[in-house]
Amino acid sequence: MVYEKLPEHILQQIKDGLSIVDVIGRYVELKRAGRSHKGLCPFHGENAPSFNVSEERGFFYCFGCNASGDVIRFLQLMENLSFMEAVEMAAQQAGIELPKVKQLTVEEKRKLSEKDRFYEANRLAMEFYQEQLLRHPQKGVAQDYLARRGLSKAMVDRFQLGFAPESWDALTTAMERKGVPAVILEKVGLVAPGKRGSYYDRFRNRLIFPIIMQHERVVGFGGRTLADEDAKYINSPESPIYSKSASVYGYHAARAAIVRRNRAVIVEGNIDAVMMHQYGFEETIASLGTALTEKQIQFLKRMTTNLCIVYDGDAAGQKAMFRSLELFLKEKIGAKAIALPQGHDPDSFLRDQGAPAMAALLDNAPYLFDLWLEAQYAHMSPGPKGIAERLHGIVPMLAMIPDAVERELYVQRIAQRLGVTQALVLQMLRQHATQRNWESVPAETVIRAGRVGAANSTDAAEEELTALLLHFPDLAGEWFERDGVTAKMRDNVMRQTAERLLEGRRAGETVDPSALLEELSDPDGKNKVAKLILSERKLDEEVVARAYGDCVNVLAIRAFEERIAAIRARLRESSAGDAGEKARLAEELVGLYREQESLKRKRETARGQ
Ligand SMILES: [Zn+2]
Repeated sequence: MVYEKLPEHILQQIKDGLSIVDVIGRYVELKRAGRSHKGLCPFHGENAPSFNVSEERGFFYCFGCNASGDVIRFLQLMENLSFMEAVEMAAQQAGIELPKVKQLTVEEKRKLSEKDRFYEANRLAMEFYQEQLLRHPQKGVAQDYLARRGLSKAMVDRFQLGFAPESWDALTTAMERKGVPAVILEKVGLVAPGKRGSYYDRFRNRLIFPIIMQHERVVGFGGRTLADEDAKYINSPESPIYSKSASVYGYHAARAAIVRRNRAVIVEGNIDAVMMHQYGFEETIASLGTALTEKQIQFLKRMTTNLCIVYDGDAAGQKAMFRSLELFLKEKIGAKAIALPQGHDPDSFLRDQGAPAMAALLDNAPYLFDLWLEAQYAHMSPGPKGIAERLHGIVPMLAMIPDAVERELYVQRIAQRLGVTQALVLQMLRQHATQRNWESVPAETVIRAGRVGAANSTDAAEEELTALLLHFPDLAGEWFERDGVTAKMRDNVMRQTAERLLEGRRAGETVDPSALLEELSDPDGKNKVAKLILSERKLDEEVVARAYGDCVNVLAIRAFEERIAAIRARLRESSAGDAGEKARLAEELVGLYREQESLKRKRETARGQ
């Protein structure tokens, strides 16, 4: 169900009904840090946590990539959903039923209904294939195959496997009867155009593996031949709802286990994935092709960073495995890997050696990087030339290891193994590193709340004032209005933020922190304001008032300085003849100095308390 616009109070009710820490905690391991929670950002690769979640403010923020928002926004980003889809998901989790109103523009309806029709077509096709597996006269071919491979009934159901009969139009005809025209089937790649405007079924005489992604949506299909054709596997082509490189096989069945066990096992083949589940490794998905893609890794990373690939024990499997190393390193994931014994795939290994042997392999899986290093050593030509060649191959990968300590330890090991000095490896590493931009995570400063004299510069004073307004919009808002503080602020980001907060206060609304950040275009500014939002403040009116007064004084001292400088300039410029003007300016100057001094003394005394 889709809504045009959701009433604000219902949105609030949904957000109030959820703990943002709980929701995000299902995807990201969060640790309490002061009043907020911290973890590794799911939206950019990092190994030091700069991702903050504030329960109090119902808000998350990443100091590394500036991702921010409320719980709805998080679900949107994480699950790749539209706003309304995320609202629905959040409502479901909060146990709130959404009112069923919908009024969309014609264009929105067309687009939505188009995608919905594609999903619906795929769902109906999946049901058709499932039914054929149970009832079609030729079902024996598929049933025999399943029996031969030892796939249990439970797994057939769980993965919703089906059978595409040996026919050019079985699906097309059946779907037409259900009101799905061939043009729609063509769009999702279930049929292909033939001669004279006709269509033919793409999947024929194949075991069908539906690819089911978020929201149980059937995005595409994989089909394994039952007739020993050359094309053992064919997959749905790319379509408006299917991107092979961004999908994985088995997600719907594996998702819960991946999160629960905090591990995802990646295999090559669809059948391998199903068999892994059958043997209890429910955190397994298949990569829909030999090579893993960056998008697939990013997708899995949202659920766990503990990834283990299990590849076939042949040269092609090993090659595919090593190809993914660079992608893992780029995503800052220390993936583990198992190379199965020669001639084995996960399916044959399980049947041959059983689940405990697989469990042992998984639990003791080495790092992919280590396996790769071993392979590098193994293919080394003898002599200094061979060693140099290897080093030149190893260093770029080594440089990608995000953790400095780990990198150093590898330097030692590699140097020892190749019989060179550590200094040489380090030097090569440094040369390589200078060509790269190391990602810098801004150091976080916790601004001590309400401490008089905390503001040692006017910048700090403006930040502190903004912080007070953020944390105590009513209390500080009143003073801000009274003293016209925003007019005295020079930092554009702070002034804009303060003005926005005051506007909200006048309108009697609470300004949402993520909305506030969204209005700021400059990432540094976003970071600064986010820090203030996430900093700790205690509501002690007296302390807050003193901090406020102190900061306002800092700004006032600056104003005096500027006026003093202006008068001095005029004094220098005024001609010698105009004695009266000079005397007047000098008098004004003395007065300003006095006022400034008294303000400074006031600050000193307050600090001394
Ligand atoms: Zn981030």
